[in-house]
Amino acid sequence: MMQADVTILGGGLVGSILAVGLAYRGLKIVVLDHNPPLDFKDSGDGRTTAVSYGSQQIFHKLGLWDGIACHAQPICEIRVFEEGSAWTVDYDHKDIGPHPMGYILENRVMRHHLQQALKHPQITWLTPSSALNCQRLFDKAVITTTTGEVIESKLIVGAEGRHSPVRLQSGIGVHQWDYPQTALVAHIYHQEPHHNTAWEIFMPSGPLAVLPMLTCPQTQQHRSGLVWAKSRDYDWHHPTNQDLEKEFLSYFPFYGSISLCSERWTYPLSALKVDSFVAHRLALVGDAAHVVHPIAGQGVNLGWRDADVLTTLLGDAFDVGLDIGTLSVLKSYHQKQKLDHCGVLWMTDGINRLFRSPYRSTYFLRNAGFAVVNHLPPLKRWLMRKAMGI
Ligand SMILES: Cc1cc2nc3c(=O)[nH]c(=O)nc-3n(C[C@H](O)[C@H](O)[C@H](O)COP(=O)(O)OP(=O)(O)OC[C@H]3O[C@@H](n4cnc5c(N)ncnc54)[C@H](O)[C@@H]3O)c2cc1C
Repeated sequence: MMQADVTILGGGLVGSILAVGLAYRGLKIVVLDHNPPLDFKDSGDGRTTAVSYGSQQIFHKLGLWDGIACHAQPICEIRVFEEGSAWTVDYDHKDIGPHPMGYILENRVMRHHLQQALKHPQITWLTPSSALNCQRLFDKAVITTTTGEVIESKLIVGAEGRHSPVRLQSGIGVHQWDYPQTALVAHIYHQEPHHNTAWEIFMPSGPLAVLPMLTCPQTQQHRSGLVWAKSRDYDWHHPTNQDLEKEFLSYFPFYGSISLCSERWTYPLSALKVDSFVAHRLALVGDAAHVVHPIAGQGVNLGWRDADVLTTLLGDAFDVGLDIGTLSVLKSYHQKQKLDHCGVLWMTDGINRLFRSPYRSTYFLRNAGFAVVNHLPPLKRWLMRKAMGI
């Protein structure tokens, strides 16, 4: 029998940040993940993540930033335009302050560093292992694992991603929908430097993001990551590299010649919202609680804010001896994060729908939107602060 304060199911990008935060507050944590630890070079997840300035501050607070800073590509400018329209919006970090708006990091690099951080003395990391049976009783939660351990704790946190088994078992209501889009993730080499600029290009078939990466350490070539959405039935593995490069250049000629330099990873896109982030002796974080369209690069940033808010709340309750698994403690986490999530969900869903719409009236609406943002600096700065998570 193992005793802990919190058992976290899922040691991904969000679950591990929560574990480290709670361990720093003095809580005893068990983390279960059904996948074995990743090798640093593991390419199973080819995604890059736009880490907002606010999230970078969370990493910094936990002492995790120094280890990954050398892998982080700053984003100083973001340029947005619609294919076929003369309007663009340029967001320049200098309008807000001296800091970059965010950083691009490879997921495999972040996962590797977070896995190292799970070796904290307050954390027991069981992997590969998952929950075979979860009982949420009046005064404790008891988990039996697939590897035979029995763990008693005050609270279970579901951080197993969008298909969270503990959420399904809890009976918490879920609303989810599929977008008629699949995203391609790949990396390109390009002739011209990216000048720390991220691009978002809206096309009728879906958005294309071109995200600056650090120069390739092996070849010293300029490099960017692509997140390119097209209709769900499009087979991203069918076109040759030359065909994809040619199509990309027809939308994005700004970096000179380009070549694909990675595998292709594909992700069907969907959204998910829960009726409640909490139940008796259960809290949900990250994609287990919400999934949003990646159009604005906000999904995991939202999850890290869940982890940050929950860490403060549980840490404070723990310090004064409260039972951290009761609804009276957990309710304010739900109230706070529900608002945050609804804002991001409706913003990303709305932008995606608006830019997919073929109607002329929405074309005028989109151009008007670009013009308003360009001519109202306070609105532009507000949008930038939202994207930066501050
Ligand atoms: C194409 C694309 C691009 C994106 N780009 C961005 C971006 O730029 N910025 C951004 O903020 N967000 C982005 N996102 C969203 C982001 O990737 C997710 O929000 C993030 O991965 C969620 O992290 P998580 O830890 O909640 O879940 P996951 O990353 O899904 O991790 C879940 C963890 O739980 C483990 N697990 C699963 N099931 C079990 C089980 N039964 N028992 C135990 N362990 C289990 C898994 O092994 C994994 O380690 C993007 C998403 C997509 C699809």
